[in-house]
Amino acid sequence: MPPLSVEEALAIVLKATPVLPFEPVPLREAQGWILREDLRADHDYPPFDKSLMDGYALIASDIDTPSRRLEVLETIEAGHDPGGLRRVEPGRASRIMTGAPLPQGADAVLPVEETETEPGGRAFIAHGTVRSGANLARRGDDARAGDRLLEAGEFIGPAEIAVLAACGRTSVKVGGRPRVAVMATGDELVEPDRTPGPGQIRNSNGSLLAALVRRFGVEPVELGIAPDDPEGLRERLKAGLEHDILISSGGVSMGEKDLVTDTLRTLGVTILFDRVAIRPGKPFTFGMKGRTLVFACPGNPVSTYVIVQLFARAALRRMSGFREPSPSALRGRLESEVRQRGGRTAYYQARAEWREGHYAVSILPSSGSADFVSCARGNALARIPAETATIAAGAEVDLILLDDHADR
Ligand code: AMP
Ligand code: MG
Repeated sequence: MPPLSVEEALAIVLKATPVLPFEPVPLREAQGWILREDLRADHDYPPFDKSLMDGYALIASDIDTPSRRLEVLETIEAGHDPGGLRRVEPGRASRIMTGAPLPQGADAVLPVEETETEPGGRAFIAHGTVRSGANLARRGDDARAGDRLLEAGEFIGPAEIAVLAACGRTSVKVGGRPRVAVMATGDELVEPDRTPGPGQIRNSNGSLLAALVRRFGVEPVELGIAPDDPEGLRERLKAGLEHDILISSGGVSMGEKDLVTDTLRTLGVTILFDRVAIRPGKPFTFGMKGRTLVFACPGNPVSTYVIVQLFARAALRRMSGFREPSPSALRGRLESEVRQRGGRTAYYQARAEWREGHYAVSILPSSGSADFVSCARGNALARIPAETATIAAGAEVDLILLDDHADR
């Protein structure tokens, strides 16, 4: 079969991806997960009329000219019961603190900085004036009881935690949490703590895959290095299939020792595609067995990096209930012209810097899909469509940021 477009391949991946069941967790463990229920306000916010400043609760029309003198009724502190407060009448005001309930009758708060207290504190001079409604919040201004404050499918960060806490939620439905196995394949590989012998290289993809999965919020099961022989490979892949997702690297191209796809077949994995029109990463096999998804990435580190960011990440997000499986692309402007062989959608390692109101995108020089150092120098992927041969300096391209904003 001809290679699929990136969009076709992603659609197949997402169609095969189940949304895992949610689980209730204590609020303090909910951060970094996906909310799996709508959150409605349990009461009005704020729950009572309140002052937003330290000052005097008064009737705005009482001080429509400066230097008016008002008598002080009482001092209202945060936490006071609104039911026990004295009503503010014309010519009078109550001293009030930020967050304290507003007394009946008052329709504004004059900040303390604009007042001068008389000795004894029983009256004050209002130097400024205020509009009715100034410096106070009315009950329900932020939200009404029953309003939807958070939606199922949202990422839970610190602000969402605060909203959940304000609504008294100590247990939250989140998740689910995919179990993900990662493994490398290749007879040339040794683990990073060993010195490679002649013809050997260190297994960097194992660490790369584990780190990517961790960044997306999941602790992976690391299955190490599988050999290039059918039995050894079969055994290791079989162990990987015990998880919700198996991500492997290597062994999916056209070489005689590229046995991963066929071995997966013998293990009962249905191969949904084995090539995508993408650069880098064309020989990429995706399959499923039961509810387990298999992402068999090419061995070239840059290919693995791109394939995981585009495909496995979307599946991980979908599994845990994220509304948007892929983060939305930003736009950036190319710093210099790009020429490419067309026919495949290209994802270039790039540096994107915010400059004068836009992302300036520099494509990083790379010696090809084996140049894993280019990934470390970049902070983004720049997407150039398959049909484009030359794209001019200054042209806009889609951008996927991989650094600071890439969690999940
Ligand atoms: P393969 O897809 O197995 O043919 O591998 C393609 C290239 O990537 C070869 O040069 C491999 O040596 C290299 N490679 C494969 N697996 C890894 C790995 N785990 N870490 C670093 N490089 C790898
Ligand atoms: Mg190999």
